[in-house]
Amino acid sequence: TEHTLAVIKPDSTQEHKDTIMNKIKEAGFCISQVKETKLTREMAEEFYKDHKGKDFFNNLVDYMSQGPSIMMILSKENAIAEWREMMGPADPEQAMQVKPDSLRAQFAKSILENAVHGSSNVQHAMDNIKFIFGDIPS
Ligand code: ATP
Ligand code: MG
Repeated sequence: TEHTLAVIKPDSTQEHKDTIMNKIKEAGFCISQVKETKLTREMAEEFYKDHKGKDFFNNLVDYMSQGPSIMMILSKENAIAEWREMMGPADPEQAMQVKPDSLRAQFAKSILENAVHGSSNVQHAMDNIKFIFGDIPS
């Protein structure tokens, strides 16, 4: 099995935590680890360091540090791609066009406040999991 880091971002943790976690289980993912964490600004900057310098970076850091997020290690065959598929595209308008049943089509408020995060590849998943949980499940 493959592992990925999934995050329910702060606004959707407040509003849709149980709904999203139930959908994750219904989709056949094993939630190997879960914790509620409020990222500091410094942690959010590190988490999204690849986007440093982009015009939305400060807003992204504000958004991700505004309240607690649900951090999960999802485990399943092909977990990285399947979780990104379930999230849909970052922009909810696009998500509603191409994947109306995706989480972002249903729960994102804008391209910034887009409800969920998922690691984009194997290296990114390992880095994300180490950063949030400290280690990779065996
Ligand atoms: P994530 O990395 O959160 O899983 P993603 O890989 O689909 O999402 P990225 O391009 O990595 O999207 O962007 C990271 C996050 O930055 C997005 O999820 C969103 O919250 C924010 N973001 C991306 N593009 C924009 C934009 N043009 N304007 C505002 N915020 C944006
Ligand atoms: Mg990304």
